[in-house]
Amino acid sequence: MKRVSIFGATGSIGQNTLDLIARDPGAYDVVALTGARNIAQLAADARRVSASIAVTAEEDLLPDLRAALEGSGIEAAAGPKALLEAADRPADWIMSAIVGAAGLAPGFRALRHGTTLALANKESLVTAGPLLLAEAAKHGATILPVDSEHSAVFQALVGEDMAAVERIIITASGGGLRDWPEAALANASPADAGAHPNWDMGQRITIDSASMFNKAMELIETKEFFGVRPSQIETVVHPQSLIHALVGFNDGALMAHLGPPDMRHAIGYALNYPDRAHLPVARLDLAQIATLEFHAPSPTRYPALAIAAQVMETGGTSGCIFNAAKEIALDGFLAGQIGFMDMAGIVADTLDAMSSQGSLSIAPQSLEDVLKTDQIARDMAKRIITSRFEQKENA
Ligand code: NDP
Repeated sequence: MKRVSIFGATGSIGQNTLDLIARDPGAYDVVALTGARNIAQLAADARRVSASIAVTAEEDLLPDLRAALEGSGIEAAAGPKALLEAADRPADWIMSAIVGAAGLAPGFRALRHGTTLALANKESLVTAGPLLLAEAAKHGATILPVDSEHSAVFQALVGEDMAAVERIIITASGGGLRDWPEAALANASPADAGAHPNWDMGQRITIDSASMFNKAMELIETKEFFGVRPSQIETVVHPQSLIHALVGFNDGALMAHLGPPDMRHAIGYALNYPDRAHLPVARLDLAQIATLEFHAPSPTRYPALAIAAQVMETGGTSGCIFNAAKEIALDGFLAGQIGFMDMAGIVADTLDAMSSQGSLSIAPQSLEDVLKTDQIARDMAKRIITSRFEQKENA
């Protein structure tokens, strides 16, 4: 039996992972499930898959979790320390699907035990890519990409020599606002940006798809995970979301990975790797699809892409600052403090402000360095939002 733990079990990726695991109960021994505020879901899933322990990130919700698990024999725990302890529990395969920088420390901890880490939490590679890969190498652990684009690249590279790779093309759906006139984007609400035409995902990543901050993160992730130069990474808008990524080789060949927009494919690939198992995802009917469209992303509609290009060139702490500022800008947008198109300005201004305090290209040396930079960047982004908000109020 494969011992598995799922960090972020109550979220969109976590639920898709549980869907696959629950279809084959005899094959898995579920060690830990973690969540944050959705205690009812966490407890119900822990009971359904007979997990050994359920952990909520929220300390004040421990009594609720205990009550929901009463009589089940399943352990309950809470708080960031409990998350790390859950990552210490022996497991063969761990899904890292907490949203945001909060997913970094548990994933890092799991690598210490030489496990296989299925990495959905893209923030880990964006904020601390080199450190994460070094930690995996040090402990003989394996990181498998779960983001659909990176899983696609990974699959297209099986049996290939990285030296023969000329370029990697990451596709983008264009998000929920892709058909809006550019001038109207400034007035988009969180509800407008939170509806995705193709994928069913968590709220934050769906809004990040509309702004292409999600794609920007994925470009940085590509550079970190596959070790290619920024100039080798391209983005193309592909509204159907059926080709997830393409790899171009030095003989001119392009290997494309196609599949339905269903995260259970990438999750299932990582769960069964290096084997391929039957997965309950739709099969594409190419004759019915008939047309695949592609076009270049507009730099004015999607300013996040240019910021990502800068971050990839700079390296060092810039990915961490980029992610922290993006998370705070998204909070500001959700809270109605700033508009949809203001988010990129907040991120760019935070990077500028932080660079005036010291070079961004100096690489963080430890997880603690990353978490410290993350906090400073968050505070800076909050200050920038507050001053902009006040200016708007006073105008
Ligand atoms: P969701 O918002 O749906 O779920 C997030 C999960 O993290 C939930 O289990 C949530 O708990 C938990 N969580 C939230 N805050 C904290 C915290 N501070 N500490 C610990 N746990 C916390 O996110 P998604 O599933 O959409 O995304 C998860 C990750 O995977 C993200 O990094 C995202 O970028 C990435 N990803 C997602 C894809 C998708 O299709 N959704 C595709 C590719 C990558 P609770 O709900 O109980 O509060």
